[in-house]
Amino acid sequence: MAKTYIIQKGDTLARIARARLGDATLAETLADYNGLPDGQQIFVGQQILLPSNKDRHAAVKTRAKTQPRAGAVWLTAPHGFQAVRDTFGDILRYIRDDGSIDPKWEAERMLKAALPFSIPLAWDTSKSVSSIRCHKLIAPLIEEVFRQIVAQGLQSTIKTYGGGYVFRPKRGAVKPSTHSWGIAIDLNPNTNAMGTTGDMDPRLVALFEGFGFVWGGRWAGRNKDPMHFQYCSGY
Ligand SMILES: [Zn+2]
Repeated sequence: MAKTYIIQKGDTLARIARARLGDATLAETLADYNGLPDGQQIFVGQQILLPSNKDRHAAVKTRAKTQPRAGAVWLTAPHGFQAVRDTFGDILRYIRDDGSIDPKWEAERMLKAALPFSIPLAWDTSKSVSSIRCHKLIAPLIEEVFRQIVAQGLQSTIKTYGGGYVFRPKRGAVKPSTHSWGIAIDLNPNTNAMGTTGDMDPRLVALFEGFGFVWGGRWAGRNKDPMHFQYCSGY
């Protein structure tokens, strides 16, 4: 449950975040949670909501939809475990002894990339997503990939969404899934189970690969994962 807080004289969001949430770097989370645009002033007497730990975990910022930039240069997909850590942050420092993740990992690194169309959830098709939770460094890229999906008329090849950023507690895991870095997306999981050939549209695969994503459908044998696209290789 969120608690309310009345802004006092001399307060800043960073100060409130430090005093009430225990971490000044959560000022941005606090702003997002209260729908305050970047740089918006707070005033004495204003009531804001302090998210609970649980709320905060869910309160990941949604990127404002950006226009495609001509000649945009995207971050190069890193190769190998060490390069992934160097590029996207060292998740191992955020994994606690019990295998759970420090909420700071998500608060500091993840964003929601806004989608140009909504996608039904694979596990409950009565609901759909209009954004993908992913690492903030690839959020603009994911938005561009989905713009191209629309531009190339491939929207109908995406039937369901299977997940983006997901952290699954795993005691003693030394190599977390690429989903825990927010650099992997699962699409159409119902017809693209692990170890199967699946039915991913080759045009969709080509589009993702054109942007530097690696498609799990190219992996061999039991590792074959045709629902899975990730923004790194050798991992
Ligand atoms: Zn996956």
